[in-house]
Amino acid sequence: MPENTTEKLLKRLAALEADVIYRQPTQAGEEEFRYLPGSRRVLVSAPHGAAHIRNGRLKEEDEYTAAIARYLAEVTGAHALYLRRQSATDSNYDPETEYKRALRTIIRQENIRFVLDLHGASDDHLFGIALGTMNGRSCPEQFPMILEVFGKYGFRQDARGSYRLDVDGRFTGAGGARQETITRFVRDTLGVPSLQIELASHIRVVQVPLDGKLPQVYRGDPELIERTMAALTELVSRL
Ligand SMILES: [Zn+2]
Repeated sequence: MPENTTEKLLKRLAALEADVIYRQPTQAGEEEFRYLPGSRRVLVSAPHGAAHIRNGRLKEEDEYTAAIARYLAEVTGAHALYLRRQSATDSNYDPETEYKRALRTIIRQENIRFVLDLHGASDDHLFGIALGTMNGRSCPEQFPMILEVFGKYGFRQDARGSYRLDVDGRFTGAGGARQETITRFVRDTLGVPSLQIELASHIRVVQVPLDGKLPQVYRGDPELIERTMAALTELVSRL
């Protein structure tokens, strides 16, 4: 039977995610994070592609954000930077990490004009997508277009369930006195517009094993994953 486009997309995302080992620190000669150079002056970042330590505590990975960054790089020509092994630091929290140093170098050398920082949220929050703009500060010029693109794919602030687009609710991307988010580092320290995007599990995760004894797997919704990828692809190509 011929493969349909949804199946092809899910397979491609799974293949791209295979570069990541969620809960293993780097072995000799391995890169903790990886940079894929692009030709478009947009960078897609996935700093939680693998597990990481925040304040001495191990935090779970944001599954499939690395794959999505790589996918967007492939289809749009954007640059991608993603965590691929368990890190002793959390670049969406700690200042001055290796990942942030790489980000600074790439943004300057490649004259990057926009950074999308991808994260994963659980399905418990009542949204499909949550945008963090530091309460309007991180990308005011681009924001009307960003809302227009998500709206075109059904993600709206007045929608419900998977289609609800949250803006600066629980996840503002602003951080705080002790937390320097990627979004704030890029906007305030490097002077480049940025946006934090939180994607609920069911609209981004192709398939992951569930924790626990039974050999169960979690699967996201194929149609919603495809729709999310289409919205993100159009967004990157218009930034
Ligand atoms: Zn995250």
